[in-house]
Amino acid sequence: MKRLLAFAACGLMLAPGTPALAWGSMTVPIPYIGNFNTHGCIAETAYAFVEKDPAFNSAMFPAEADVTGHEGVNVHVKGAGPDSEGSTNYAEHYYNPRNGEGSAPDSVAKYFSDLAYRNTGRQKGAAWSAHFLGDMSVPFHTHGMWGNEVRAAMASNPAALDLPPKVTGDRTILSHPFTGLLSNHSADFKVEAQRFLAATGGLAYQDWFDPWYWNGPDALPYQGSSHITWEGWAPECPPTPVSQYSSLWPGNPPPAFGNPIVPMAEVVRAFAKANARSTVASEADFLANEGEGEDQAATSVATLWRASFSGLRTDQSYTFDQASLADPNATPLAEVRGRLGNFARETARGVQVRLRVVSGACRVKTSATPDIQTYGAAPTGVRAFGDWKVEVPRGSPCRLIIEAIGAYSATPDLEIGWKNFDVTPPNATPPPPSSDCNCKPGDLMCHTLCHHNAGTPAP
Ligand SMILES: [Zn+2]
Repeated sequence: MKRLLAFAACGLMLAPGTPALAWGSMTVPIPYIGNFNTHGCIAETAYAFVEKDPAFNSAMFPAEADVTGHEGVNVHVKGAGPDSEGSTNYAEHYYNPRNGEGSAPDSVAKYFSDLAYRNTGRQKGAAWSAHFLGDMSVPFHTHGMWGNEVRAAMASNPAALDLPPKVTGDRTILSHPFTGLLSNHSADFKVEAQRFLAATGGLAYQDWFDPWYWNGPDALPYQGSSHITWEGWAPECPPTPVSQYSSLWPGNPPPAFGNPIVPMAEVVRAFAKANARSTVASEADFLANEGEGEDQAATSVATLWRASFSGLRTDQSYTFDQASLADPNATPLAEVRGRLGNFARETARGVQVRLRVVSGACRVKTSATPDIQTYGAAPTGVRAFGDWKVEVPRGSPCRLIIEAIGAYSATPDLEIGWKNFDVTPPNATPPPPSSDCNCKPGDLMCHTLCHHNAGTPAP
């Protein structure tokens, strides 16, 4: 009963023309009924699992309140969440695996990148990537078509808009997901298209036509649509805590030195599509048991977030060779000794550690010590590993980075850990502490510079 009231209260207050709304995302409690922040609760459920992962570190991931602070809308469909009318394109909330249309996978990948770069947009990146990925577990967000195609079709033939199942999904279950009282919708969605055209003036963000958002009775065309009535019925929170990472995860990209976020974003895009395909495959089930989609969403969000950081960590210490310091004609020689940590639950395979100069006139003496040194299989734990000779010209400080890569087969993971550090020769002024977190996505060096102080607790 509470849910029925919730649906009525929530639906009647909805402004027209907000097909981006998925599940509930309202954060304003309604007396005696509750609130409807399903996306927020999915985020909380995912967070509770990720923060227990041994590789989780609060310096590497936004605080929970900063994530949920970027979710939700008020009763006027305004707020910090992506359901805020006009803040996103409608299509960002949709992906139809039957016709390959919709922008949700791209947006999940985009906001995941913001999270993984740990730049200023990371809190919003965590929340919005989770939101668009969560939408992929809503049966009503895995069909539909581009709005402009509907506008063109209606302009050329206003008499009818016959849509195939690859656009509408299964009409026998999506027409009336719980009542069973109404007859199945015909293939003609002319009325819905007319309502869509009337309510959305063709603004750029109104780029998606969801046939099931506009099929309510005349008095309640969207509020009474099968999409909104079903979402109004859905429980606010996933019924089950997350207990493992998602079996839909396509696998981490091959580990490599260099920017790990670009290839990972591709995996994330594929993961979002896999979620949509899973939802379509279980459409009748998800429609009948709303919590199943919410459970899939929470598990997938936890998986997505875990892939934004790595269980691999590095640290180092260095000493100067006293003989090279004492000889005024010699270039001082530093010896850098590495430490390698694996904080994930599983063994990292094929682990390699590299020392490299980021800035300054230092040089790794690769003739004596190769820059890349192979460890192999690294079980969970911390060990000393890596030994490099580095020439450090007098009076010239430099910045180096020690990086470790390795493969995880069962854990979503960025598969690279790093630490930047400065080597200051005698009689040189230490460089200012690194505070340059103004990274731009795609900047190869940036993720290393940016995380100088953020990513690597001493193992
Ligand atoms: Zn949405």
